[in-house]
Amino acid sequence: MKKTGFVSLVGAGPGDAELLTIKALRLLQTADVVVYDRLVSSEILELIPTGISRIAVGKTSGHHCVPQLQINEIIINLAKSGRRIVRLKGGDPCIFGRGSEEALVLKKHHINFEIVPGITAASGCSAYSGIPLTHRGLSRRVQFITGHFNDDQPLDLNWQSIADPDCTLVIYMGLANLPQLARSLMAAGLPASTPAAAVQNGTTISQQCVISPLAQINDAVQQAQMKAPVMIIIGKVVSLADELDWFQQSINEECYENNAVGH
Ligand code: SAH
Repeated sequence: MKKTGFVSLVGAGPGDAELLTIKALRLLQTADVVVYDRLVSSEILELIPTGISRIAVGKTSGHHCVPQLQINEIIINLAKSGRRIVRLKGGDPCIFGRGSEEALVLKKHHINFEIVPGITAASGCSAYSGIPLTHRGLSRRVQFITGHFNDDQPLDLNWQSIADPDCTLVIYMGLANLPQLARSLMAAGLPASTPAAAVQNGTTISQQCVISPLAQINDAVQQAQMKAPVMIIIGKVVSLADELDWFQQSINEECYENNAVGH
């Protein structure tokens, strides 16, 4: 009888390998092949035992290394040949990660699959920059939106519903359109003084975070020469980073100790 494969759509978390779930780690260590996205950190790829095949199908914003249709084809062919496949995606597979699109394709081809959630970048970046997504008295609601749109198209969002001063707004893929995003939010009534943060390479040793009022957040990002991946967090909760930013502090202390030892 023909063996049928199985696909695990697995979230790799935002970067720090220790934020992988135990389930994700077990699957990575027992798969036949791992098909992974560019956002998956090298620290995590190092956890895959030698002998397990890896296929990179990396994507960068606006630049697709392997088109989605081809990714689907690779996965379907591997599954039909009876392999156990881990389809590894940055963060959570089903938050701006096309995990559900790939699952629908698998379903259509009668290939069994499971979905293993991961820590999404919003959770990782907020925790590691001391910005809680909710906080009593500051935020009652969280919205995750994408700031990425196809070239030359206006940002087609319902700004009135998004611009809520009692809500935390998290923008994935928002770097390229940040000036337009900030302008639209302010035009829809979000005060220019609303605290905003941009977190680059969140949860990794190279994490960098800039904080400024919404009206100046793009200038701050430009000045810091930030590059993707960057997460934008907007809302009163950002003001707590002043007191809660434990991670940057621990990196600074480690650098200081290493320098002290080195001298
Ligand atoms: N499925 C992923 C998101 C993919 S969209 C998840 O759940 O996290 C890619 C966007 O996520 C990036 O453009 C950036 O906005 C954000 N992102 C992912 N990892 C990040 C990181 N380590 N630091 C900052 N932003 C990150």
